[in-house]
Amino acid sequence: MNNRQLFLRHVAQLSDAPLGLEIVKASGMYMWDADGKQILDLIAGISVCNVGHSHPAVVQAIKDQAEQYMHLLVYGELVQSPQVAFATLLTQHLPASLDCVYFTNSGSEAVEGAMKLAKRYTGKTEIIAFNNSYHGSTQGAMSIMGDEGWRNAYRPLLPDIQHLEYNSFESLDSITSRTACVVAETVQAEAGVRVPQKEWLQALRAKCTATGTLLVLDEIQCGLGRNGTLWAFEQFGIIPDILLLGKALGGGMPMGAFIANREMMWVLTNNPVLGHMTTFGGHPVICAAGMAGFKVLLEQDLISSVKAKEQLFLKYLQHPAIRAVRSLGLMIAVEMESFAVNKKVIDYCIDKGMLTDWFLFAPECLRIAPPLIINEEEIKQACDMILEAARTVA
Ligand code: PMP
Repeated sequence: MNNRQLFLRHVAQLSDAPLGLEIVKASGMYMWDADGKQILDLIAGISVCNVGHSHPAVVQAIKDQAEQYMHLLVYGELVQSPQVAFATLLTQHLPASLDCVYFTNSGSEAVEGAMKLAKRYTGKTEIIAFNNSYHGSTQGAMSIMGDEGWRNAYRPLLPDIQHLEYNSFESLDSITSRTACVVAETVQAEAGVRVPQKEWLQALRAKCTATGTLLVLDEIQCGLGRNGTLWAFEQFGIIPDILLLGKALGGGMPMGAFIANREMMWVLTNNPVLGHMTTFGGHPVICAAGMAGFKVLLEQDLISSVKAKEQLFLKYLQHPAIRAVRSLGLMIAVEMESFAVNKKVIDYCIDKGMLTDWFLFAPECLRIAPPLIINEEEIKQACDMILEAARTVA
């Protein structure tokens, strides 16, 4: 059996129609398949490779730390310098109230940790989330996922959860003094890039403060520069009580985090019931990789050009087959007539050497979320190909 056959036989798949390309190398903006074909990556492993694939500084940090030590002990017992350094650096770039980092292995685990923390800290149980949100695939994260059909397939879920309409002022009335926390994506990603009104996020913040409810902002997909600022919440003039990070946080390695203030995080350590345990969270090699990636993001000033790059995409992506383009920074949804048309456009692009896909809750939208290092020429090339595909298949 060849590798593709072995993949189909022994590796669990995401759907009944996996892409099934065999990639043998990736670097910067590109991947290469087993036949040596070069593929321009327009989705960065779903907003993971913000500094590009296998950045040399990240690779070097992994090698250096692996030679020093790898796993030592469960999280939060030993002083491990890669964890200390990365947590310290992150908090230096966050508001003073977000000064304590709990590193996890994934975004979903960060969501779980934050919901547990909110319950313990507030002593309340109700959790509020929004329609069309995606927060992960574990049972807890799925319970707050904003797609009813999907949730229903996995009942029973966590109790005491409400889903509200995102970006709706009326829905905020449902947040009361019974609510432990509200979990919201600062910008909804899998909904097909839904950017909320600034006034709405500010009203949400105010309502949470007034009712003693913690505001948990999920920036797992939109954080770390993707929206054109280091943190998306900066653009809305609010500060969450708990910030969730993941995806790009590990520089291409698996990592998430929930970040709160020291006093709040302390409740997870209160005996006799401990809080949140992880064997591998904050793994030293991954902290070293994440720290190297974070430094590249800042030192190479990759974020300041994000909005200009977004404008180039918006300028080029004009065609009758494109119904709408929604974006914030390099998180862009290109709305086609239907999923069927979008699928043909995506297949055309992949065939011609450019990787893109659709959004979970907006399958009619083509996803653009490239590494932030994408240059002008690559943007033009990508848009030309999308337009060519739209002309050919629409
Ligand atoms: N929140 C958001 C906004 C996400 O986009 C994702 C992943 N797509 C998650 C949470 C879950 O992260 P993970 O897949 O690392 O568990």
